[in-house]
Amino acid sequence: MEKQKAIITGGSRGIGLAIIKKLLEDNYEVWYLSRTEVEENLGPFIHHIKTDVSDKENLVESLNTAVKEAKVVDLLVNNAGITRDGLLMRMSDENWDDVITVNLTSAFITCRALSRTLLKQKHGAIVNISSVVGVSGNAGQANYSASKAGLIGLTKSLAKEFASRGIRVNAVAPGFIETSMTEKLSDAQKEAIVAQIPLKKLGSAEMVADTVRFLASSASQYITGQVICVDGGMVI
Ligand code: NDP
Repeated sequence: MEKQKAIITGGSRGIGLAIIKKLLEDNYEVWYLSRTEVEENLGPFIHHIKTDVSDKENLVESLNTAVKEAKVVDLLVNNAGITRDGLLMRMSDENWDDVITVNLTSAFITCRALSRTLLKQKHGAIVNISSVVGVSGNAGQANYSASKAGLIGLTKSLAKEFASRGIRVNAVAPGFIETSMTEKLSDAQKEAIVAQIPLKKLGSAEMVADTVRFLASSASQYITGQVICVDGGMVI
């Protein structure tokens, strides 16, 4: 069976790496764009392109390389993300700009750079990794929440723009997932968060990856423009 081709931003660890592993199981060949490389050997069908997604020229150059090698783009996942938390009154311009650039602008650049290929081939899926705080907001995360809400607007708009060419665009909004992004929190903070989650447990990167795998597959062929929360019921 011919391999499907996927491009993902980030992917060196956490949720992105879990997505890559599921995609490799599903017979994909994957190109991932991040500053650091995955430490384990995942075989011949995963390719790293060293990229800082906050550097537009670097990002576009890497995407061009990936498309040249892959030829077809069956799946694009915008996953790279950072946090720079703080209350609004004390939030610096730099912390605002960095988060918007990495989390939101990189997804705009990536979708625009790949749109010609996607529209021409008339098939493919885009999955944007948003967050429940893009839906609910969160004190201390104005920059991050705005970037993730922005991704939802991008997702819905592109779903409408691209639908007639057979391209589906969806977002996944993870809740509290145990990765390096959340490991800084103390046990007491984690306990307080779990208390707010109806399913009473934290999520794993694999749980998010399973939803991406579903949105990439033909099992979701009639789903576009949606935001699927993987959050144990946090924002019901
Ligand atoms: P991690 O911090 O574990 O991983 C972040 C990934 O983003 C890494 O692969 C990193 O690669 C990449 N990245 C960050 N900055 C850049 C950059 N400038 N250029 C290229 N790649 C970059 O976080 P998670 O796996 O937890 O997060 C993945 C996504 O899921 C993010 O978008 C995050 O906002 C979202 N999310 C996570 C939640 C959680 O609870 N963990 C909850 C909701 C959403 P490298 O450092 O190698 O460049």
